[in-house]
Amino acid sequence: MNHADVDEFFRRLAKQRPDPRSELDYINPYTLLVAVVLSAQATDAGVNKATASLFKVADTPQKMLALGEEGVRAHIKTIGLFNTKAKNVIALSRQLVAEHSGEVPRARDALEALPGVGRKTANVVMNVAFGAATIAVDTHIFRVANRTGLATGKTPLLVEQELERVVPEKWTRNAHHWLILHGRYTCTARRPRCEACVVSDLCAYPAKTTGERTRPGTQAKKNQRWAQRGRRGK
Ligand code: SF4
Repeated sequence: MNHADVDEFFRRLAKQRPDPRSELDYINPYTLLVAVVLSAQATDAGVNKATASLFKVADTPQKMLALGEEGVRAHIKTIGLFNTKAKNVIALSRQLVAEHSGEVPRARDALEALPGVGRKTANVVMNVAFGAATIAVDTHIFRVANRTGLATGKTPLLVEQELERVVPEKWTRNAHHWLILHGRYTCTARRPRCEACVVSDLCAYPAKTTGERTRPGTQAKKNQRWAQRGRRGK
């Protein structure tokens, strides 16, 4: 995609969602960090359901430590991997109190040094809580970036680096949200809604649907072939 097309791509996504927000509920940078840690392999809706009660009693690392691992587990037991996540939430809270006076650090290194926090989580916190121009490449962004030709790469890190290179500065603050929401609601994994897509004419996905009638299964087969080509790196 050339520079003008990338700019147009984001102009349209911005017009469609002028004020994009994270769909995770949070109160402050600390609760955002906890929510993102809990969201690994879980839906935002599932996490929000659990954190509604958790954050009422523990919205700071000190309160989370007072609640204890058993207490955290009781609030989040509906979320996948809740045992490991409860351990991480307590361990990261302990580290925040011991090393950062109970505050969430802004620097990537310090964030990634916290238990249960990887590059993606650090990017979300830096972007959403502190306004940094980071793009956390999750499954939705990885798919949208590769399909459209916006930023192709075989790993999330390569896609992230390519996005950093190609996204015009004026769009970087919200690019993360626009791409996730586009992937979640329009450019969905199995059956992208190309007919309703505001960037369809800019998209390079060879199997994008055109609105023309096709035999049942034709589009699914095209998508499958494209995915196989992607897995083989072609
Ligand atoms: S045209 Fe289809 S494949 Fe391309 S971005 Fe839009 S929804 Fe995704």
